Amino acid sequence: MPDYPAAELRIHGRPRIESRLDELYFGHYKSMYTAQLKTPLANAQWTGITTRLAERLLEEQLVDAVITVAPHPDDSWRPQPVIVTDAKALNHCRGMRMGYAPTLAMVEPALKQGYRRLAVIGIPCQVYALRALEVELKQQGKLDELFVIGTPCSDNTTTDNFHLFLSKLTDAPETVTYLEFCTDYHVELRFTNGTTQRIPFLKLPLSELPADFFQTTCKTCVDYTNCLSDITIGYMGGDGKQWLICRNQRGEEMLSLISSELTLSQPVSKGSRTGSVKGFITNTRLAAGGLPLRRMPHFMRSIMAWLMPRVGPRGLEFARTRVEMKAAESILHLRQLHPKKMRYMVPDFIWSQIAEYHLKPEAGEIDGDGLSRFNPALTTVSDER
Ligand SMILES: Cc1cc2nc3c(=O)[nH]c(=O)nc-3n(C[C@H](O)[C@H](O)[C@H](O)COP(=O)(O)OP(=O)(O)OC[C@H]3O[C@@H](n4cnc5c(N)ncnc54)[C@H](O)[C@@H]3O)c2cc1C
Repeated sequence: MPDYPAAELRIHGRPRIESRLDELYFGHYKSMYTAQLKTPLANAQWTGITTRLAERLLEEQLVDAVITVAPHPDDSWRPQPVIVTDAKALNHCRGMRMGYAPTLAMVEPALKQGYRRLAVIGIPCQVYALRALEVELKQQGKLDELFVIGTPCSDNTTTDNFHLFLSKLTDAPETVTYLEFCTDYHVELRFTNGTTQRIPFLKLPLSELPADFFQTTCKTCVDYTNCLSDITIGYMGGDGKQWLICRNQRGEEMLSLISSELTLSQPVSKGSRTGSVKGFITNTRLAAGGLPLRRMPHFMRSIMAWLMPRVGPRGLEFARTRVEMKAAESILHLRQLHPKKMRYMVPDFIWSQIAEYHLKPEAGEIDGDGLSRFNPALTTVSDER
């Protein structure tokens, strides 16, 4: 029963401002930027703003420890939670690993070691749980300060599944050191020998992956942008650069620790998301119903792969596209898999994000008399599928 509005009020001090459309999509913000570290950090996922921010918190002694993940000694793609007290040791944690990391299992050991001022780097599901723990731990007098550095997360999967995915992308999966889904509609792979490969999204072998490749928890996630963090550091609104969302005072204070090391600019927004989102919803409906997806002929895929980076949505519009797609996916999969959980698991902002696509709550999917608690405009409708 996630209660995002209450958590947001507690953490950011106010409800989302309705007239600020991007608060509907991305959550609270005081400021938003595209950004790059002037001197990018080696082995970082992008330029390393996340790591640098955590380093600065330790250097300035604003926190006693940072909780994040490092590569597992037996498998560099497997995230292993760690407590870091030396800023230099964060070098080792740079980069993205695919896999579920029990990061929060480190909170109690950290407190037991006497670290009462913590920073945590986490993806949205970790941050939701962390914020719930924060209330308890502060009430119990165990935790003094918490700095939450969040990254967005579209989907995660097990590290074993991720290895399967890599094996379908390349003949030498064991030599892949880096993977990212870039905003120019390509996946970028980097290899141990220093080479790079870029694969258009449309040519990814997604249909060859098992149906449970992404778990239900990810397919029904309602927080793509990590709206309970103090600062979110992603890339999808950055049009090729990093994308920063300072959500509250603490987020802005953290950013000020590194602002002289950054090139900051205002995010751009280009193109229109509507067509892409509509197509995605059609395909997701088929997939959620177990029906085969409409596949594009091979020659069309090549043309579209060339066209999409040129005419598709970019910058903030790309981020809105992905947020709407994720919201639709969550509704359609949850409706299919766990319809009775809809009324407890789907916050109203998710319904609002996709309202223009005629995906409205059906009877029983929102609380009480069919009127939404937070947005009375969201009346229930009969099945439009
Ligand atoms: C599973 C996953 C999916 C993501 N999807 C998106 C997306 O759709 N859109 C988007 O804008 N951004 C996404 N991100 C975030 C993005 O990949 C970058 O991590 C982010 O932009 C920060 O870049 P950086 O150079 O500042 O990070 P770095 O300085 O390299 O630091 C990355 C930090 O992330 C931590 N980390 C790595 N793997 C994990 C993990 N599995 N769980 C928790 N923490 C981890 C590292 O320990 C490190 O502290 C995703 C991240 C993950 C882990």
